[in-house]
Amino acid sequence: MDEKFILSIDQGTTSTRAILFNHKGEPVFKAQKEVTCIFPQSGWVEVDAIQIWLSTIDVINEVLIKSNNTFKNIDSIAITNQRETTVVWDKETGQPVHNAIVWQSRQSASICEKFEDKKEYIHERTGLLINPYFSASKIRFILDHIENGQKRAEKGELLFGTIDTWLLYKLTEGEVHATDVTNASRTMLFNIKDMKWDDDLCKMFNIPKCILPEVKPSSYHFGDCTFFPRNIPICGIAGDQQAALFGQACFEEGELKNTYGTGCFMLLNVGDKIPLSKNGLLTTVAWQIGDKVTYALEGSVFIGGAVIQWLRDEMKLLKEAKDSEKYALEADENHGIYLVPAFVGLGTPYWDDDARGAIFGITRDTNKNHFIRAALESIAYQCKDVFEVMMKDTNMKIKALKVDGGATANKYLLQFQSDILQLKINLPKCLETTALGVAYLSGLCSGYFSSVSEIKSIHSYQATYSPKMKQAVVDKKYEGWIKAVNSTRTFK
Ligand code: ADP
Repeated sequence: MDEKFILSIDQGTTSTRAILFNHKGEPVFKAQKEVTCIFPQSGWVEVDAIQIWLSTIDVINEVLIKSNNTFKNIDSIAITNQRETTVVWDKETGQPVHNAIVWQSRQSASICEKFEDKKEYIHERTGLLINPYFSASKIRFILDHIENGQKRAEKGELLFGTIDTWLLYKLTEGEVHATDVTNASRTMLFNIKDMKWDDDLCKMFNIPKCILPEVKPSSYHFGDCTFFPRNIPICGIAGDQQAALFGQACFEEGELKNTYGTGCFMLLNVGDKIPLSKNGLLTTVAWQIGDKVTYALEGSVFIGGAVIQWLRDEMKLLKEAKDSEKYALEADENHGIYLVPAFVGLGTPYWDDDARGAIFGITRDTNKNHFIRAALESIAYQCKDVFEVMMKDTNMKIKALKVDGGATANKYLLQFQSDILQLKINLPKCLETTALGVAYLSGLCSGYFSSVSEIKSIHSYQATYSPKMKQAVVDKKYEGWIKAVNSTRTFK
């Protein structure tokens, strides 16, 4: 066999995957291994970085064995990863000095509180809102919680990386300590206008610059993987949501994607502009190819597909997530019911940590079907909330929404989303958009893909949804949703 593939490593919060993509952008072979999160205290989430590295070796070996390929068949390696998760390791031994702190973890919240008065300043430079999600306060936490952390960092004995950097370091056997612009832009230490580590922010968090990785474009020859018997170039790195935007072929300004997983992440390509949202959206680097930097606006919904998990696991209303579609269709209409799944507060545009979930409009004839239908609709309404502020902030004309993620298996959800947004929805043929996006970035650098136009020509859709609901009906329904959300925010 001499067919060549791109080996994409997709390191997520709950699993590590390796996928081989061919010239048509098809995922032809896959391997997956779970990783275990550690919860040392309420609200804290950590993971063993060594386990992440070992799971990466495993899935690479497994996908090659399964597919009967060898490293000879690999054109290049691409890495996409859970963003913001923070690893600090000893430069000499390559051993982590603390568990990696996962993006969701709130353990560095008190560090962020100290910088509340600097929030405008941070937003202007990084595009981010001051929050423990981002890496800066997590690095600070680690340096404060290990012996002589600050001293060792200042002496250059420690290195910091997000998961991409950690895997790149390991795959190159400690030769390369680098990251790409998309991952750097989630650390809260990176100036997205100058495209450099920001001296003032590093000083603010008292983080010595010598521990930070070099920042490179997303499509770039980062180095060669020497860990395995044959040297393979590593040519693409991007954070998961940015990779998905690229994998959805959202190459032009005004192109929009939404991922429906546990939570939902909506990203809008805003070209070379750097709009700063007044409505709770983040501005982030979408990718860099050559010298050209593309930016995106990003909004997030905390509980997306997870509301269906909740119906299944806690409420026992469903055997499987996919049954939600059948029940929703059995409900003749929604009966004016709104479920607001503010289980962990609300994300964009509310950023309300204290809001809690509620259900409104129940009557004597409300049944399970209505309940399930309202849960699915709540996913679409929350995404509309994000969409509305994106439109407010940019005044852009959007032609379609490209979707991916586990919950896009639900046709009722996608039709309702199209109705409520009054927007066409495209579901791509390859739903592995994250791994595909970074494979595209890698292939563009290695020459596996000749150009962005070639990628556009192979990109195709399996389904399209168009709005069927009248605008007046949409307006009335959405008005009800806004009332319901606002009630969850005042009832405390
Ligand atoms: P993640 O990457 O965040 O783990 P996935 O993209 O794998 O998430 O999607 C899983 C989520 O999608 C789960 O929360 C699950 O409840 C939801 N989900 C899966 N299938 C369906 C379905 N047919 N209808 C509605 N939700 C679904």
